[in-house]
Amino acid sequence: MTFPQFDLQGQVALVTGASRGIGYDVARALAHAGAQVIVAARDTDALSQLVERIHAEGGKATALELDVASLSSIQDGVAHVLEQFGKIDVLVNNAGLGFNHAAVAVTEQDWDEMMNVNLKGAFFMAQACGRVMLQHGYGRIINMSSQASVVGIADHVVYCTTKGGMNQMTKVLALEWGGQGVTVNAVAPTFIRTPGTSERLDRPEFIENVLAQIPVGQVGDTMDVAAAVIYLASPAGKLVNGHVLLVDGGWTAH
Ligand code: NAP
Repeated sequence: MTFPQFDLQGQVALVTGASRGIGYDVARALAHAGAQVIVAARDTDALSQLVERIHAEGGKATALELDVASLSSIQDGVAHVLEQFGKIDVLVNNAGLGFNHAAVAVTEQDWDEMMNVNLKGAFFMAQACGRVMLQHGYGRIINMSSQASVVGIADHVVYCTTKGGMNQMTKVLALEWGGQGVTVNAVAPTFIRTPGTSERLDRPEFIENVLAQIPVGQVGDTMDVAAAVIYLASPAGKLVNGHVLLVDGGWTAH
């Protein structure tokens, strides 16, 4: 029996929402672990800069323009990755929107926009990559959920609903695909400082309230999330399937 292995040499990993925030550093961490990383999002300038940075750090990366709210963009993007690399070993389904809304103020457009990216987009990414992985008999899908999938957060009704749905999607895919070499898990972070959250975390009353909920007394950073992704993507994580890994400093232990 060998010691746990975290090396991803020879693996092809696709990360959505890699142009900034969590996805950006998850992509860097996957490249650091040895994977060939495809960084996907809509902001191609940001993706080019990330590819340059990963190369400078000694890793392998290419950029892919992708809008997860468009099924044709998903299908074209996955086909393009297959043409280039012949397989997809790891999908990190990270693209997401995190706006907050009071429930009484939610519009149909608010609902549709967040559902389309956070839930519908994530499902059809998983389906498109899952089909490829099932043909190869190997794959790791890691969905970027949130602690807001298991606890309610006031003024985040649409967001919490998308992430709760993502957890259920994770479990069903894990049941359907786990026996064919494809594991499906989710990572569920607490508040992480990113371009998507910094405006809220800079408000004194907001951060005070957040820190009061986190027993370890700090919000997370992007590499805390990347660490969990690397574990689930790696050979060391092969027996984990259908799990939602909370990276929340104990928020949900209350
Ligand atoms: P962020 O800084 O706002 O970045 C969001 C990323 O998603 C960007 O790279 C953006 O790229 C991409 N994206 C948005 N719409 C897209 C679309 N239609 N197609 C493709 N990519 C799209 O967000 P973050 O804070 O890093 O969050 C990343 C993920 O972690 C999200 O799923 C979020 O729900 C989850 N999460 C975050 C936190 C937190 O506190 N930060 C906590 C728990 C969970 P483009 O605009 O270039 O397309």
